[in-house]
Amino acid sequence: MRAAVYLGKDRVEIKDDLEQPKPNSNEVLVKVRYCGICGSGVESFKHGGLYLPNKILGHEFSGDIVEIGGSVKGFKIGDRVSVNPGLPCGECYWCKQSKENMCKIANNAIGCTHDGGMAEYAAVRADQTHRIPDEMSYIEGACVEPLANCVYAVRESEIRLGENATVFGAGTIGLMTIQALSAAGVHQIYAIEPVKFKQEKALELGALKCLEPKKYNKVSRFTEGRGPDYIFDCVGIPESIMSSINLITRGGKIMLLGIHVGSFEMKGWMQVPLKNIRLQGIFGFTSEAFHTSLELIAHHKVDAKAIVTKIIKLDEVPAMFEELANPFHKEIKVLVEI
Ligand SMILES: [Zn+2]
Ligand SMILES: [Zn+2]
Repeated sequence: MRAAVYLGKDRVEIKDDLEQPKPNSNEVLVKVRYCGICGSGVESFKHGGLYLPNKILGHEFSGDIVEIGGSVKGFKIGDRVSVNPGLPCGECYWCKQSKENMCKIANNAIGCTHDGGMAEYAAVRADQTHRIPDEMSYIEGACVEPLANCVYAVRESEIRLGENATVFGAGTIGLMTIQALSAAGVHQIYAIEPVKFKQEKALELGALKCLEPKKYNKVSRFTEGRGPDYIFDCVGIPESIMSSINLITRGGKIMLLGIHVGSFEMKGWMQVPLKNIRLQGIFGFTSEAFHTSLELIAHHKVDAKAIVTKIIKLDEVPAMFEELANPFHKEIKVLVEI
């Protein structure tokens, strides 16, 4: 079997001679159609660390069921599916409250700590596999996972109709957050993004205005001098976090979706208590958010295809990681057609 394997920092390779996985009794075997390349994979490629080496990449994928484990019910051969890559234990304190993303083994996921879907076949847990409707394409099916992060963040923020939001970053997660906010009825959304074509995408997908990072302060003017009620930081670098703290309204809430691995100095941190700012980190999503994400795409409330800028073949994956590691690359979501 052929697959793209993460070997460590600066090393992603195509292997041609891997054994085709056999599904366990609680698993199904998926013939993969499309699999997305995630920013977290590119971060692991650049810095090492987030992923385990020698695992097949890919945690955003769709395909067809071709084999079914002995104890699996509710699926048949040929079902078209999208896969939730999480591997929650189902038994811990957090799982019992349906907070699967906070499971004590929350960092376990296929494509990160276990073999993933950037391969011809993937054996996946049936309870994490979701059938997609006939009218949903495999391309859209591969975009359910990244959107689920944004759906979860919007739900956790508890933003209400009439309140406004600013989104830092208009890459995959930022653009999907803008769309999830729109789907939730939020009409006043601003985006902060330096790259021109991403600014245009943000406007096309629901932002009222999109500003360059150095002009982020202008959002105050659009919000009667107060600053935004909510900020979704989909960048997660020191500059975006500090800009968020400066910009947010008193008592506002900042959702931190971006992941910054290194340490940094927080200048002006005193504003957090002085302005009564609420900060919430966001990592992963619940099963419920994955389901909602699938429904939003199925009902055309979110245009997943709008963020897909390139479709490549498996052989092109190592070169694409090199390209995406360059901060000036020209892509948003890249999918691999298997
Ligand atoms: Zn991802
Ligand atoms: Zn658990």
